Amino acid sequence: MSRNQTLFEAACKHIPGGVNSPVRAFGSVGGTPPFIQRGEGAYVWDADGKRYIDYVGSWGPLILGHAHPQVIEAVQRAAANGLSFGAPTAAEIDLADLLCDMLPALDQVRLVSSGTEATMSAIRLARGFTGRDKLIKFEGCYHGHADSLLVKAGSGLLTFGNPSSAGVPAAVAADTIVLPYNDVPALEAAFAEHKGKIAAIIVEPIAGNMNLVKPSTAFVKAMRSLTEDDGAVLIYDEVMTGFRVGLHCAQGLHGITPDLVTLGKVVGGGMPLAAFGGRADIMARLAPLGPVYQAGTLSGNPVAVAAGLATLQLIRQPGFFEQLTAKTTQLVQGLQTAAAAAGETFSAQSVGGMFGVYFSKTAPQSFSEVMVSDKARFNAFFHALLDEGVYLAPSAFEAGFVSAAHTDDDLTQTLAAAGRAFARLA
Ligand code: PLP
Repeated sequence: MSRNQTLFEAACKHIPGGVNSPVRAFGSVGGTPPFIQRGEGAYVWDADGKRYIDYVGSWGPLILGHAHPQVIEAVQRAAANGLSFGAPTAAEIDLADLLCDMLPALDQVRLVSSGTEATMSAIRLARGFTGRDKLIKFEGCYHGHADSLLVKAGSGLLTFGNPSSAGVPAAVAADTIVLPYNDVPALEAAFAEHKGKIAAIIVEPIAGNMNLVKPSTAFVKAMRSLTEDDGAVLIYDEVMTGFRVGLHCAQGLHGITPDLVTLGKVVGGGMPLAAFGGRADIMARLAPLGPVYQAGTLSGNPVAVAAGLATLQLIRQPGFFEQLTAKTTQLVQGLQTAAAAAGETFSAQSVGGMFGVYFSKTAPQSFSEVMVSDKARFNAFFHALLDEGVYLAPSAFEAGFVSAAHTDDDLTQTLAAAGRAFARLA
């Protein structure tokens, strides 16, 4: 038995499903997940000593690759001074100043420990600020596992949500209106029907949790103008896209100033750190200034802040995103060429360092279009690549990530492996 299998069986004894976050269990693609022993640059090594070129990057944070020396050094330096104080530290000011400097939407920002905390807090704040309860989210967008966000749509039509997780009270879900992504008429209809009752729209401004789905310009503009006209809060959930699609995030690419922004993943450089922030008048409603309560024992943790600061300093260097974008474009174009050579029905696209691959003719525009792509073929492709030492996210519905550590040689090796994987499918 392989060491990965032995560990997985041992893990299942005291950890539900053997994992501490569900997708890690390989439920969608089947098989045993590799247990990761270490990472360096673009690579991870599993418990059996096998090396993989990694396109998961811890689900997005590791834009500089694994164990970047400057990030590790910053973490070690901070850790040597103590792991946590539960009191303010000067480095938190540096990070808050830097974030507000990089994103015009941020007048103020609060640090938290996970993306879920950031979105949950942003929604509470939007509700507290507007005095309204209803929330619009979009089908296929994931915003963490807070109750009001674990709601999916029953169909592509305007609908009140049914909980998609057991344990979410129906009353909580009832305030979440789920709409199809990229559907402007559905959005207009929701604002007409619930005029003056909608606290916020929360959106993945480039969706990365139903594979990668880009928003149309009309959709982006409609979200901004409808919220503005109705006095609702526009929340850009940039936990995934933040400092991943570009230096000024998706909002920079869209030319949109949201009212609130949530950040995670890259902002913590691989440590448990996330943030939410936005307009000064909204942030002023937050405790201790205002009545909306939010807190955290480890919020603004000094070691996590050090990792985040070191990461942001490195990605701000001139040319960083141009190079990352070029690499990611090279990858998706190469995959398309390899698929075409094998006669495979396939498409791929990218934004900055984030990409989507689809076993369908064209890139999808919505959750329902994502759902018709060929999941069985993705699973076969995934396992063929894993055998070849290329690690994609273990689900047809996840985006992939390229890091600055991926070299030309890594991309060439990946594309050669993909060519063989496509040939195996045929
Ligand atoms: N929002 C988005 C867009 C995400 O992609 C995720 C996680 O993947 C979250 C929120 C939740 O973040 P976390 O897993 O850190 O709680």
